[in-house]
Amino acid sequence: MLVLGIESTCDETSVAIVENGKNVLANVVASQIKEHAPWQGVVPEIASRNHLKKIIPLTEKALKLADLEINQVDLIAVANRPGLIGGLMVGVSAAKAFAWVTKKPFIAINHMDAHLYSPHISSEINFPYVGLLVSGGHTMLVIAKSYTSYEVIGTTIDDAVGEAFDKIAKFYDLGYPGGPAIEKTALNGNELAFSFPISNLYKSDRKFDVSYSGLKTAVINHLHKYQQAESYSVADIAASFQKRAFDVLLKKIELAIKEFNINTVVVAGGVSANQYLRKRFQQIKNCNAFFPNLKYATDNGAMIAAFAYHKYLEEGETSLSEGVYPRVEGFKISLLRK
Ligand code: AMP
Ligand code: MG
Repeated sequence: MLVLGIESTCDETSVAIVENGKNVLANVVASQIKEHAPWQGVVPEIASRNHLKKIIPLTEKALKLADLEINQVDLIAVANRPGLIGGLMVGVSAAKAFAWVTKKPFIAINHMDAHLYSPHISSEINFPYVGLLVSGGHTMLVIAKSYTSYEVIGTTIDDAVGEAFDKIAKFYDLGYPGGPAIEKTALNGNELAFSFPISNLYKSDRKFDVSYSGLKTAVINHLHKYQQAESYSVADIAASFQKRAFDVLLKKIELAIKEFNINTVVVAGGVSANQYLRKRFQQIKNCNAFFPNLKYATDNGAMIAAFAYHKYLEEGETSLSEGVYPRVEGFKISLLRK
């Protein structure tokens, strides 16, 4: 089955064609880094306007690379949640139009489900596993039972981990996007230079939750405190922050491995591109960790098309009257739990 997948949830427009959830025939991505860089963050209206310009040319390019006509595709898939509303509307409208004119089935996908699926494109992974979704808007710990079913066991109660990277990078003027900028700066720093505080959410109903606002504030306040000091080093700050940001995630993973007696861990989402994080996982005992291929770690259409194949086989198509949803379950779920 050939699936065309569209991704437009944030600042990357991407169209891919994937066969049977694995074989990527085309995956074209138009990044908007240049457009958003002057603001050191994503400006939703600029993102929507760029998606609108790119969506058709990218679809043409993907079809050309795969050597297909649009009516040779069997299913049209698109991420319709979570994300920035303008971008979602562009992607979903385009996908509906393609499905309408080709009379092919349409399927709407949760972008987070697709991220979690992304390591499956390149690896064979058995269920159940502990899933860690780390992105710019979400930080979620799940127990995945099949491609389409997982239970959220923990989430952030405030900022997402990627968001903390982005805000700290912006504050220290390290570059945009913040995650790769901090990773690069941290290479020249001492990760033990500062022991920034991390949250300690260990009450039974919150033990898999995390919090990043305290760490973010501590790292940002550090500059106010030490900017006059000769020993001030932004590389040390970046390395120490990166270590502490991941310390807390690794603790939760170790706890989940023990509690659920599951040794397979899948890490996905933009932050999973971080090489330091990948190395840290090698140090966890009894842990067989899987990461996406780097090109499928940040937002891409391939993961949408690949996951859509399994979702369609299990649940069938989505109505053409389906809407868009900026937020999903797992977004600060701990606050909702109260
Ligand atoms: P996503 O929300 O899944 O599209 O991923 C984007 C987020 O991942 C942003 O917050 C980025 O700063 C973050 N990110 C991307 N690459 C890295 C990296 N190498 N290290 C840490 N964070 C990263
Ligand atoms: Mg994403």
